Amino acid sequence: MTNNEMFSQLILHWYKKNKRNLPWRKTKEPYKIWVSEIILQQTQISQGTNYYLNFIKTFPNLKSLSKSTESNVLKTWEGLGYYSRAINMLNNAKLLVKQNKTFPNNYDELIKLKGIGEYTASAISSICKNEKKAVLDGNVFRVISRVFNISDPINQSRGKKKIHKITFKLLPKKNIGDYNQALMDFGSIHCTIKNPKCDVCPIKNMCQSFKIQNIQSRPVKLKKNTTKKTRNLNYLIISCKQNLYIKKRLQNDIWKNLYELPMIETNEGIRHKLIIQSLASLFKDFKLKDFVLIKKTQHKLSHQNLNLFFWKITTSKLKEKKSSILLKVPFKEVSQYPFPKPISKYLDEYLIT
Ligand code: SF4
Repeated sequence: MTNNEMFSQLILHWYKKNKRNLPWRKTKEPYKIWVSEIILQQTQISQGTNYYLNFIKTFPNLKSLSKSTESNVLKTWEGLGYYSRAINMLNNAKLLVKQNKTFPNNYDELIKLKGIGEYTASAISSICKNEKKAVLDGNVFRVISRVFNISDPINQSRGKKKIHKITFKLLPKKNIGDYNQALMDFGSIHCTIKNPKCDVCPIKNMCQSFKIQNIQSRPVKLKKNTTKKTRNLNYLIISCKQNLYIKKRLQNDIWKNLYELPMIETNEGIRHKLIIQSLASLFKDFKLKDFVLIKKTQHKLSHQNLNLFFWKITTSKLKEKKSSILLKVPFKEVSQYPFPKPISKYLDEYLIT
């Protein structure tokens, strides 16, 4: 047995004993594996499991997903972030069903679909069809960097290519899907970022970083010099007889197509004049009586920090425009609309109290 064969056999053996009992591991249906892969790009397994079960319950197959609306899919996805991924899933489903196709299980067909990159196509095709594809997530990068003591940064193309080449060479002849999942699990449970279980590691004799004890400095990652932008978003709670005014977001950003309250972005605090201007753009006629801050909260995104202010607007007169971008939604129906997480969290509190 070669060293590479020994490596994959030891990892597969470890997996047999330590495999986590996850719902998507009970199937080889490409549709379900696709759903799990896209969800797990967004969140940890613990939170992702509930989203997966709910998504599969709501859309058990490609056909049911294809018949859904954007709003329903976004509602199921609410809180996961990167909402364009959910829209891509819906559009892929519609396209495949229209072409009378089932969800593909091979890399060449998968990679043609919108929102499916090398990682996801490799994962689905290796799990469902045993295609010889290496799957590299952060866990695999860490394990391979340590075992082969790779000093090239893993967030640069040279390091990525090197690790991809090694990982591909290590693939076993069969059970490729299991092996790929095993290596990711091994990184996530055993060869962890902090306190890897080196003492009881089945591959410690092969691990170069263990031998020279530089584990904590592998993998190497170049720090990006990024300063996050801070934004102040003022949301206006305008209601009328147990109805709330909301609007659909059309801006091309991560919250595109979700719903929100009318919003004013400011550099610093809000001013009376800005609220008047905003109401004038939304309503035909109005009389502003008061505006009161009822909640201030923060939300961190990967690229920016958001300060969110919720202002209760009181008016003595409110006349709607004939054609308006606003939707007037009864309080009890608001929860049916998909909102960005910090807004839905606030609305849940507000509409209950
Ligand atoms: S010996 Fe330690 S660092 Fe090396 S693979 Fe095993 S757990 Fe990871």
